[in-house]
Amino acid sequence: MKAFINNTLILATHNQGKVREIAELLKPLNLTVISAAEKNLPEPDETETSFTGNARLKAMAAAQASGLTALADDSGFCVDALDGAPGVYSARWAGPRKDFKLAMQRVHDALVAKNISFQTRPRASFVCVLALAQPDGTCETFEGKIDGHVIWPPRGDKGFGYDPIFVPDGHDQTFAEFDTALKNAISHRARAFKLFIS
Ligand code: IMP
Repeated sequence: MKAFINNTLILATHNQGKVREIAELLKPLNLTVISAAEKNLPEPDETETSFTGNARLKAMAAAQASGLTALADDSGFCVDALDGAPGVYSARWAGPRKDFKLAMQRVHDALVAKNISFQTRPRASFVCVLALAQPDGTCETFEGKIDGHVIWPPRGDKGFGYDPIFVPDGHDQTFAEFDTALKNAISHRARAFKLFIS
């Protein structure tokens, strides 16, 4: 059974879009949800080399600074033939302008440099790890993953990030061609939240 100090949860993110999306997903838990920005909590650098490491680092910093239970997430796109890259560097591959056309081109170029043809449907996945931390330093994590393959050229204009080059197993469309509600129902994030809420 998860414990929430004062029936309150700090969301360890300064991204208002994420706060809204996560608050909606957490409605069944009937908690008071407060963002790290509202509490003026510092945003630690993501210095770890795994999703779990970064999610834990962010949740534990927020729990310690606020004295409340805190939830953080970390997510990204992993290509098997690139040893899991971009992985925890998914956002950073888009550069300071957050240009995901550039990030997708980097994935393309890295696969081509390894002589990997897109006809072989290179394996890839999206991963999301949630970390729930208490001020006493305890921390639980929940991982959601969705497997699929990389396509080129990119297709679709919904979603964000690497969605236009990812086709999940059992489907023909990219995440960027999916109906948003369908993507949100089967995504890595949805899977991590199902584990967290259950
Ligand atoms: P963070 O979890 O905010 O550190 O950022 C994760 C990065 O992974 C995002 O900037 C995206 O590039 C990528 N990413 C995570 N989830 C998705 C998704 O559902 N679709 C496309 N890209 C994603």
